Amino acid sequence: MLGAGIMGSCTALMLAEAGFEAVLFDAAPAPLCGASRWNEGRVHLGFVYAADPSLSSARAMIPGGLAFVPLLERLIGRSLAGAGGPEEDVFLVHRRSVVGPEAIGAYYQAVVGLLHEAGLASAFARPLSAGELAAMTCSKEVAAGFAVSERSVDTRWVADRLTEALAAAPRLSLRTGVRILAAAPEESEDGPWRIATDPPEAGGRFDAVVNALWHGRPAVDATAGLPDAAPFTQRYRVALFVRTAPSVSARGAVIAVGPFDDVKDYGGGRFYLSWYPSGLLVETFSDRVADPPLPDPASVIAGTRAGLAPLLPAVAAILDRAEEVSVGGGWVFALGRGSLADPASALHRRDGFGLRRRGRYISVDTGKYSTAPWLAGRIARLLAEGA
Ligand SMILES: Cc1cc2nc3c(=O)[nH]c(=O)nc-3n(C[C@H](O)[C@H](O)[C@H](O)COP(=O)(O)OP(=O)(O)OC[C@H]3O[C@@H](n4cnc5c(N)ncnc54)[C@H](O)[C@@H]3O)c2cc1C
Repeated sequence: MLGAGIMGSCTALMLAEAGFEAVLFDAAPAPLCGASRWNEGRVHLGFVYAADPSLSSARAMIPGGLAFVPLLERLIGRSLAGAGGPEEDVFLVHRRSVVGPEAIGAYYQAVVGLLHEAGLASAFARPLSAGELAAMTCSKEVAAGFAVSERSVDTRWVADRLTEALAAAPRLSLRTGVRILAAAPEESEDGPWRIATDPPEAGGRFDAVVNALWHGRPAVDATAGLPDAAPFTQRYRVALFVRTAPSVSARGAVIAVGPFDDVKDYGGGRFYLSWYPSGLLVETFSDRVADPPLPDPASVIAGTRAGLAPLLPAVAAILDRAEEVSVGGGWVFALGRGSLADPASALHRRDGFGLRRRGRYISVDTGKYSTAPWLAGRIARLLAEGA
């Protein structure tokens, strides 16, 4: 298993559960240090992808979103209640949204229809009343608001629980501080496969390989004879992870649709604040990327406040009462290119992720945090069936 983010960790836990000896590699000194620790934790049910009216992205998100909680609870052996997050989120439509309020309302209803078909009878999307909207914002930049049935989880809490599960799992060994350089078949593509590493002695021969390196995946796929056919973009994004006194609370909201972002309240004084323009550190088409240095927290705090607080006054109240502010983030790999301000950009879609394989070498584009446990289940089944 290459990569100890949520994708590699869930897959390794499922393989160990199925009776396989699993080895989990990561360049970082500990598992779950990257994007999987430092993200917003939205359990996607499709509402975000309103600029894809074909509903293809929503359809791609729904199976993973519905499976997320039960699969993760099984793997960490406890309820996700501690990860917080209400069962409802609010989407506020910006006047510069690439999808207008009417079209967005129709899109949300279509997503609700898909969720009902998928068996989630409780799914809903409803326009906010004037009073509800006024309680959240008085900005003229916000044209409308909708409450939808979608939740987010505190990803740092989940990362800690998954790390504990990895340490406790039988038949699973963790090799951290090891960089993966290449993968090549020794006899045939059905195995064994040789993994080359830095330091060299950490690598070896394996019956099967799963590449879950996320931003590091394309470079290793190329060595395995499985280069990416479609153009992609890699973005390094950071956000603010804020702790206040437990009594502070705010209604979470995302500013839709374009280069804006959101506020999340996980309960107990835990908040996520993100303003896309000030959190985007790198945007590249390269398959070889190195983490950028983290910026001075003061500059991210100032940029996030300047962008978000005029739209959502609750942001200023959260920052004014902050006891601890961490800047964290990671890479976002996405097929396609373009700007989020352009309605035609392929970055508004997320429907091309999933598995590709060459014999017993499987490469997985995680797509989203929320699709990882479901994809891990598919990989574990494939390998258990000897495919
Ligand atoms: C700011 C932000 C907000 C986001 N919000 C959401 C959200 O709300 N909902 C959602 O579903 N998704 C969200 N995402 C996307 C989500 O974080 C990712 O899709 C997901 O975490 C990817 O998981 P992963 O395990 O594939 O990658 P990672 O967690 O990045 O794990 C990959 C691992 O591979 C290791 N690695 C890479 N290259 C090498 C190499 N050559 N050798 C050894 N190790 C290597 C890295 O150290 C890393 O630990 C967000 C991302 C960001 C950055």
